[in-house]
Amino acid sequence: MARMKFLCDAERCIACNGCVTACKNANEPATPWGIQRRRVVTLNEGEPGQKSISVSCMHCTDAPCKAVCPVDCFYTTPDGIVLHNKDQCIGCGYCFYACPFGAPQFPEREAFGSRGKMDKCTFCAGGPLPDNSKEEYEAYGSNRVAEGKLPLCAEMCATKSLLAGDGEVISKIYLKRVMKRGTRPDTWGWERAYMQAL
Ligand code: SF4
Ligand code: SF4
Repeated sequence: MARMKFLCDAERCIACNGCVTACKNANEPATPWGIQRRRVVTLNEGEPGQKSISVSCMHCTDAPCKAVCPVDCFYTTPDGIVLHNKDQCIGCGYCFYACPFGAPQFPEREAFGSRGKMDKCTFCAGGPLPDNSKEEYEAYGSNRVAEGKLPLCAEMCATKSLLAGDGEVISKIYLKRVMKRGTRPDTWGWERAYMQAL
């Protein structure tokens, strides 16, 4: 079975934020103001070697968020997507501190209030509610995976910097690019999330 992964090719990212907009469009009801499942980060801004990367939940192989959650919110689908159950979440924030990518987000409902239910990228695969139901869409956003589609962020990436899909397939696409460029592979986050080199 395919194991779904994200790969951001920093040599191609032009920081247009198209992926961020696509994510908001696909998951709007589940991502109110203040919740941003995906963001573009620029490294070494203004210096030689400046690069941008698109970051969200990487759907880690051995997810640290899952290991620390005291109420077992997280589960991994057979194709390797890390999802969570908002009904179980108590908003403790442990997952935020455990995640190496800063992926978990919390709504700010009150100025000094407690955190709400955690939200993060679902790889456009919804959540534990019936596939493509109104309830699932409102709580978790789109379930494109159930329709045989890939996450909208990667689909909309104009330069195909952000790749999503079967890890075997996207790593081959990336390695082909690297060979053509004659550079070394530089996939920010890949080894950390998937505990393997390309
Ligand atoms: S990126 Fe963060 S939230 Fe996503 S699976 Fe890994 S540890 Fe969990
Ligand atoms: S905030 Fe929610 S999902 Fe995160 S560790 Fe706490 S209970 Fe689990």
